[in-house]
Amino acid sequence: MQIIAHINYYHVCKRKLWLFANGINMEHTSDIVAEGKLIGETSYSERSGKYTEVEIDGVKIDFYDARNKVVHEVKKSDKIERAHVAQVKYYIYKLLVNGVEGVSGQIEYPKMRQTEIVKLCEDDILEIREWEKEIERIVNDEICPPLLRKGICKKCSYYDFCYVEEES
Ligand code: SF4
Repeated sequence: MQIIAHINYYHVCKRKLWLFANGINMEHTSDIVAEGKLIGETSYSERSGKYTEVEIDGVKIDFYDARNKVVHEVKKSDKIERAHVAQVKYYIYKLLVNGVEGVSGQIEYPKMRQTEIVKLCEDDILEIREWEKEIERIVNDEICPPLLRKGICKKCSYYDFCYVEEES
């Protein structure tokens, strides 16, 4: 969970990554997990027999179709986000470096009734190695990255923390 959260936050906001990794946790995890789980259960209830849960290098993949070599992910979001694609690419990468080749990914968005296909290319592998290095550097930096100042801040669980801190 930790590394996947880091990959996700790295793509959303570097400051969020730093805050989370340094123990400042404002996420309402139970709500997020509950909603995600509900959507996951609803969408996968009839098909769950196809999938296995895989844990690899501490990364848990909830729905892996081993026969067809497809990683499935369900997102409650109503838009396709870069961070979702990054997460699934990271799953595929982890499988690859552990000897499982030819895997692709599918991200399902039940709210939009849409599926995003994810593939991992050579450039992605180089990029992922850069993400890992950058994440390591950011989380170990003594200085918290600056405010993002984007629209997503309003929906972020750190909003009060970030903007109150700025005013004080
Ligand atoms: S409120 Fe904005 S700046 Fe602060 S952690 Fe969230 S996204 Fe980043």
